[in-house]
Amino acid sequence: MEEKPNVVIILARCSQNHQLYGMRMEEKLTGQWMADWAFIIKETMAKKEGYDRTVIHGSFFTYQTFPGCPHCHALNFFQCGSCKKVTCWNGESRNVVCAWCGNEGKLEGTIESLGAGDDR
Ligand SMILES: [Zn+2]
Ligand SMILES: [Zn+2]
Repeated sequence: MEEKPNVVIILARCSQNHQLYGMRMEEKLTGQWMADWAFIIKETMAKKEGYDRTVIHGSFFTYQTFPGCPHCHALNFFQCGSCKKVTCWNGESRNVVCAWCGNEGKLEGTIESLGAGDDR
């Protein structure tokens, strides 16, 4: 039985310049999302395609080939606990600010589910 991969484009914002980008995510197992591509996206385009309405839940991982944020090249990202949207993350600072709603948060406990670090 072959199943179609469940692929979505998640809209994210750069923590540095607050510009949009899209991440291609594939659901590998239920609730486990792998990011394997990222690209710059225009606001108008994102709205038109409905990317701004896509919200996914679960754990996030990145492939080694994941290029990171196309704006600042941060390899990681986090999901805001408040608005559930995604902001790029440099993988270092534990205090993060959501580029969407300005909510400040700590990444304690959620770092593993973000696939931080490059374990081979
Ligand atoms: Zn960025
Ligand atoms: Zn937020």
